[in-house]
Amino acid sequence: MIYDIAIIGGGPAGLAAAITAIAQNCSVIVFDAHGFSPRLRSVKKVSNYMGIPDISGTELMDKFVDHARKMEIEIIEEKVISLQEGDDIFTIGTPSGIYSANAVLLATGISRSELIPGEKEFLGRGVSYCAKVDAEKYKGKKVVAISTVPNAMDEIDCLAEHCEEVYFFPRYENVVPPKHKNVKVITDEPIDINGTDKVTGLHTNNDYYAVSGVFMFRASDPLNSFLPGLQMRGKSVLVDDQAQTNIEGVFAGGDCTGQPWQVNRAAGQGQKAALSAIKYLSRRDIKFNDRSVTWGNE
Ligand SMILES: Cc1cc2nc3c(=O)[nH]c(=O)nc-3n(C[C@H](O)[C@H](O)[C@H](O)COP(=O)(O)OP(=O)(O)OC[C@H]3O[C@@H](n4cnc5c(N)ncnc54)[C@H](O)[C@@H]3O)c2cc1C
Repeated sequence: MIYDIAIIGGGPAGLAAAITAIAQNCSVIVFDAHGFSPRLRSVKKVSNYMGIPDISGTELMDKFVDHARKMEIEIIEEKVISLQEGDDIFTIGTPSGIYSANAVLLATGISRSELIPGEKEFLGRGVSYCAKVDAEKYKGKKVVAISTVPNAMDEIDCLAEHCEEVYFFPRYENVVPPKHKNVKVITDEPIDINGTDKVTGLHTNNDYYAVSGVFMFRASDPLNSFLPGLQMRGKSVLVDDQAQTNIEGVFAGGDCTGQPWQVNRAAGQGQKAALSAIKYLSRRDIKFNDRSVTWGNE
């Protein structure tokens, strides 16, 4: 099946976009990696969301998720690890599936992470974001695993089960000791990934590790890593006033497009990005189930 719109991110922006699009009879699929906005869920009290003056972030987010589920929006609770542009079609990859869509909407929230030098260059040629997908390719080889989040231990275990040795760089505090003996915890700072046509090693501030693969695990990967042509403004996705990015068919909304970081803005922008995506599909003459699209006061 080719979905009309694939939405990456299931926070306020992504779910507002999905609710808008499904109400206009589009086929929509939402991907969310970390339990629907850990960011909003961390807020003890939200007091500026209109109509609901006193609510916790988790309660508010649960209401958004309930609404989306009631509208029978298809939600895949997995991280998007690849996004490829084809002829007018996008292919979206998660650890356990491949999906196709005519348009893509980015709603991934803030990404504070920086790409490591060499990461973009060697993505798919030794750099990977998913052990479950790629570990087998490194059977009996040495690899590096860099994680900025504590919840990637199942990925580290998966690497340990396939690879000869895993040099594990946890970039956070209170590290739980890995359960496999072939995982070595290293506290150096990773500096750059290098190689020729494929990865051959990683420099740190102290040493050099000769490896065939480098696995990166973060809460949110910088979007321009898996969509290399995407134009950014600092760490935010650059969009025009119609929420269109520089890549035709790719739209963005919410915190990933910049400040102010607020739920109202995120939801509003998600909605705008969905309506722009629908207009784009309309221009391409892609027929929805029922063409009763309404554009407000135009
Ligand atoms: C401490 C704190 C207090 C705040 N207080 C308020 C407040 O009082 N009022 C207010 O309005 N706002 C507040 N905010 C801001 C608010 O939480 C954000 O503006 C809002 O959550 C942004 O929504 P979003 O959908 O753009 O991004 P997010 O809520 O960050 O959602 C993005 C989602 O995308 C997912 N994702 C990312 N990458 C991928 C991928 N590759 N594949 C699949 N899924 C992916 C993430 O896991 C996440 O679930 C606060 C934030 C913080 C941190």
